[in-house]
Amino acid sequence: MNFAIVGGGITGLIAAKILNDKYPNSNITLIEKANEMGGILAGTYYKKQGIYFDKGTHIFRETGYPQIDDFILSSIPKTELIHFDVHQGDIAGAVFDGKLQSNSHFPDIRKLTNYDDLYISLSNQVNSCNPISPIERLEPLITNACSRFGELYTKKVLAPILSNLFQRPAEDLASFSLLLPGLTRIVCSNYLEWLQNAHNIQYREIFAVPDQRKLPNQLRHGKRSFYSHSLGSRNFVKGITANLESKGVQFLQSTTITSFNLDKLLITCLTPKGESLELQVDGIVLATGVFGAAQLLDISMEIFSFDQPILSRIINLIVKKSPESDLCYFYGLDPKMDFYRVTNYRAFSGNPKDRRLSIEVLGNNAIDNSILPQHVLKQLFDIGFISHEGFEFGDVVRLKTGFPTPTISNMQSLVKLSDYVHEQLPNKVLLGGIGAKKGLFFQNEIIKDISDKILERF
Ligand SMILES: Cc1cc2nc3c(=O)[nH]c(=O)nc-3n(C[C@H](O)[C@H](O)[C@H](O)COP(=O)(O)OP(=O)(O)OC[C@H]3O[C@@H](n4cnc5c(N)ncnc54)[C@H](O)[C@@H]3O)c2cc1C
Repeated sequence: MNFAIVGGGITGLIAAKILNDKYPNSNITLIEKANEMGGILAGTYYKKQGIYFDKGTHIFRETGYPQIDDFILSSIPKTELIHFDVHQGDIAGAVFDGKLQSNSHFPDIRKLTNYDDLYISLSNQVNSCNPISPIERLEPLITNACSRFGELYTKKVLAPILSNLFQRPAEDLASFSLLLPGLTRIVCSNYLEWLQNAHNIQYREIFAVPDQRKLPNQLRHGKRSFYSHSLGSRNFVKGITANLESKGVQFLQSTTITSFNLDKLLITCLTPKGESLELQVDGIVLATGVFGAAQLLDISMEIFSFDQPILSRIINLIVKKSPESDLCYFYGLDPKMDFYRVTNYRAFSGNPKDRRLSIEVLGNNAIDNSILPQHVLKQLFDIGFISHEGFEFGDVVRLKTGFPTPTISNMQSLVKLSDYVHEQLPNKVLLGGIGAKKGLFFQNEIIKDISDKILERF
């Protein structure tokens, strides 16, 4: 059997693993247009300085599929692996209501002036809705959030946060926007009260534990998180690629597909040496996400009317003084903050000498790259996350694709595009990655989706 995989991000790499396990004697060729494997997980490596930054926060979490988890975990040397206990690794916070919260990344509303009204309203939701409305990614944010959290919290707290983060009126946003900064619960009780009520699933759906470090173990999801000491997500990409190469998978980098005949399962591509390769295969995995697939199939995007993605920049910094905080990452939910999320590498690595920060900034187009690092560092200083505003190394990386705006119309267009792409694909061509299924976006769901599809269809 011969297989071709297009795209060398995590979707393509896992596709190669699953195919190789299922058909150990097959020929598998993975074609990547960039000059390295990994897609977004390749991160940014500054060769001259010998320092590495992820493209945003990229902690791994076990998927629950042992074949995949064992494979990813064993792809890097044990000395490089950080395998957090179930109660560690995802320590996350938020800047909300002017303060850096390290107790929870869910908004802690206990100090808001209208707290009493919010508390009554949220308690009413818990008592009157059975079950609590789930988050439906494609539904309008306001409708879905009102039925889950009630009108008061939705309009007074959630809508302003999300509208500021994604720079669109809340009415335009889809519920998916709740999942991006993880706004699925609220801290609004004290710990004792929370413990007394925690047996009630309805209550836990809305009321978050007031201190994440005190969440009882039996209520945790049980999946462990993991990371790598020196090269973050890039290390896993390196290890996975080396492992698959040793099993005969062929990796073609900097390779451009020049023709693509879906019905005949025939791909022609141009290697960096200028050679034209023809691949006649029995199955193809498009591990490019729906946008990459549409490009390959030459589908005009105009009819799908997508909104412009948001400008997405990542500030990579080595700060003068390492932050003391144990937060691995935190979100900028306060409208005064101009960042979306901060990754604190020291909290991952446990190494006090690790002074790397990656700061994701969405929009804020008026702030020029030349002043962006200092501008955001001042905000981090003001909230007490760092004690010194200086940095030794700083660079601003712009994500070429931007950040997909989580609007209702974009989510609907994505589904339409995905349906349209799927209509063109014969049975032996699979699509994986962002948008390959309704609302599909997060890493673990993408990994499981491509694995299920290959096992079922090939
Ligand atoms: C800004 C941003 C933030 C995110 N934050 C999170 C998060 O916090 N948590 C989370 O779980 N997920 C997050 N995600 C989603 C997560 O990154 C994806 O689920 C996952 O990384 C997708 O992996 P992939 O392999 O499908 O895509 P990618 O990593 O994008 O890889 C696709 C690869 O295909 C290659 N390719 C495309 N077209 C072709 C072609 N024609 N020929 C050859 N190669 C091609 C590309 O060069 C690329 O290497 C985020 C995504 C983005 C964009």
